Order: sequence, then structure tokens, then C-alpha cells
Amino acid sequence: MTRRDVIRGAAALAAAKALAQPAAPFTLPALPYAPSALEPYIDTQTMEIHHDKHHKAYVDNLNKAVAAHPELANRKLDQLLRDLPNVPESIRVTVRNNGGGHWNHSLFWQTLGKPKDGPSGKLATAVEKSFGSREAFEGKLQAAGLTAFGSGWVWVMPQGGGLAIETSPNQDTPIMSGREPLFGIDVWEHAYYLKYQNRRIEYLSAVMHVLNWDFLAQRYLGMAG
Ligand code: MN
Repeated sequence: MTRRDVIRGAAALAAAKALAQPAAPFTLPALPYAPSALEPYIDTQTMEIHHDKHHKAYVDNLNKAVAAHPELANRKLDQLLRDLPNVPESIRVTVRNNGGGHWNHSLFWQTLGKPKDGPSGKLATAVEKSFGSREAFEGKLQAAGLTAFGSGWVWVMPQGGGLAIETSPNQDTPIMSGREPLFGIDVWEHAYYLKYQNRRIEYLSAVMHVLNWDFLAQRYLGMAG
């Protein structure tokens, strides 16, 4: 392992840790770039509504639910999601949907960014191992997003030195089964309808242009190490 690897690993760990939210009350993280940064692939208004309204609603609803249960006050978001059966039944569905929404979107904003070169380092190796090429990987991602029925997410999971693609409905997240995704793509209509209407495939194709490969390569390094 080179010094550069060590530094990148430390950065990846910091990035991964940043995803573990502090205990309640939860807060809406700021977008890590301007809402216009992903133009023309994802439009400014969609980013503003998606982050300022949809994600904020998940945070607010989660806080409302947790506030009624003081015993949950010190519980972190990923702890709540990993252990849903022990969340009081009266708020379990609310925590599942809104806690999941909060966790998923917090990762999603970091997954996107201004166009970058492509996968690098160990992530490039993993992409090649599992899919043969970046183009094949992106094709599989888009196909998974296109065939996911209704609202949900497409997930890329580290698996055996490679990567696997899966989907989940609603705001369900692999964290709920104790597995950390490398990243997810939001395929809810609110993620694309203003610009692309029913043309989900055009949105998925656009997302391929704004994946933050630097962030993903560093995050993968922290997870795969
Ligand atoms: Mn969304």
C-alpha cells in the first residue's frame, strides 16, 4: 500500500463516516454544490425541490416521529435503520420511510457532482471484474433503473472484490439489512419528472454524466479495504 493509498483510504473513511448521521434531532445536510451544478443533466429546479422540499420532509417527519420517543433520543440514523424491529411499532413505518429517505438522499447528493473522468483505482478494477467495462456497468445500471417498478432505488453493492446491482422499493435501503451500499440512484419520479416527464431512461442516461467518480472511488477504497 502506497502513502497515496493510505491518504485516500483515510479520506474515504472520513467520507463514509460523514454518512453516519448524528443522533436526533436530525438535520438536512446542505447540498455539496450549487443546485445548478448538474445542468444540463439535472435541472436546477428539480435539485432545489428534491433537496429543499422532499429531503427536508423526510428529515422533518423522522424528527417528529422520534421526538415522541425519548428513549430513541441518542440513537443514530443508521442504528435506527439497522434495527427497525426494535423501533416502537407506532412509528416503525414512519422511521422506515423517512429515515430511509434521509439516509438515501444524504448519500445520493454526494454521489453526484460535476462531470468527472470515470472510475479509478480499486473501483475501476471492481467495475472491470464484475461488468467488463464502464460502459457495460452503466448499461446494467440503467437497465436496472428502467425495470424497477414504481418508486425506489437502484443500488451498487460492494461484493467479493467486485460490485453487484440490486433495487429496492420506496425508501428501503440496504442499511436495513446491515449492508452498506457504495451508492444508489433515486428512481422516484420526483427525481426527474420536471425535466424528463415519463422518460426515465433519459434521466438515467443523464445521471451517468454526473456521477462523482472521485467520491465513489474513495468511498469504495474505504469499504473494500
Ligand atoms: Mn428522491
